[in-house]
Amino acid sequence: MIAEDPTAAAVLAAVPCYPVPPFGRSPAIEALRAARAGHGFAIGCDNVMLILRRPWLALDVPITASIAAYLPYGAAGPPRADLLCGLIPHEHRAAMLDHFRAALPNEAAAFIVWDEATREFSLIFPTIDEATPSRLIYRTPVLPPGCHMICDVHSHARARAFFSATDDADDADATKLALVFGRIDDPTGPEMVSRLCAGGMFLPLPRSPFTGDHYAN
Ligand SMILES: [Zn+2]
Repeated sequence: MIAEDPTAAAVLAAVPCYPVPPFGRSPAIEALRAARAGHGFAIGCDNVMLILRRPWLALDVPITASIAAYLPYGAAGPPRADLLCGLIPHEHRAAMLDHFRAALPNEAAAFIVWDEATREFSLIFPTIDEATPSRLIYRTPVLPPGCHMICDVHSHARARAFFSATDDADDADATKLALVFGRIDDPTGPEMVSRLCAGGMFLPLPRSPFTGDHYAN
């Protein structure tokens, strides 16, 4: 027994932490990796790894630097950040930019939703309560079961694309891709910044999440 208190035990059961066996397999860690949704931690001799799963995302990411102490464990394994839903069709990027252009001089927002059953992506424009060139208040849509909001997108209108302190606070508890587009009508083209929000961290994307783009920016 790791915890006596039932609430503490429930937390540890929901978010488990396992040492990596020095040899052989770990059924518990394999179950964590094979889960449809959930997360936990594996302690390897090299680092501590967050293992997080969503129907659309497989994320194994080290959350510590290499561990100097000798741990008689196996290695945590290679990192991965895979979009199990595949890349987002490029036409959704174009449709969002049209929407952001039409909303100028104000900011605007969009969500990219993925249906686990049909494996189709769709674009949702949220109900806006207040929009100005530097401020946006909108309602996060309620999705039917099996539909996942995988990408939260907003424009900074004619300002630069960056993640503001407000964006950081909004994204802190979410598991999603977050994108900001800026300089929407700039003749040299809009700017984009992106990140993966997971486990309370903001992780860089290795590439653009859209088909047909080769770089994250
Ligand atoms: Zn912002």
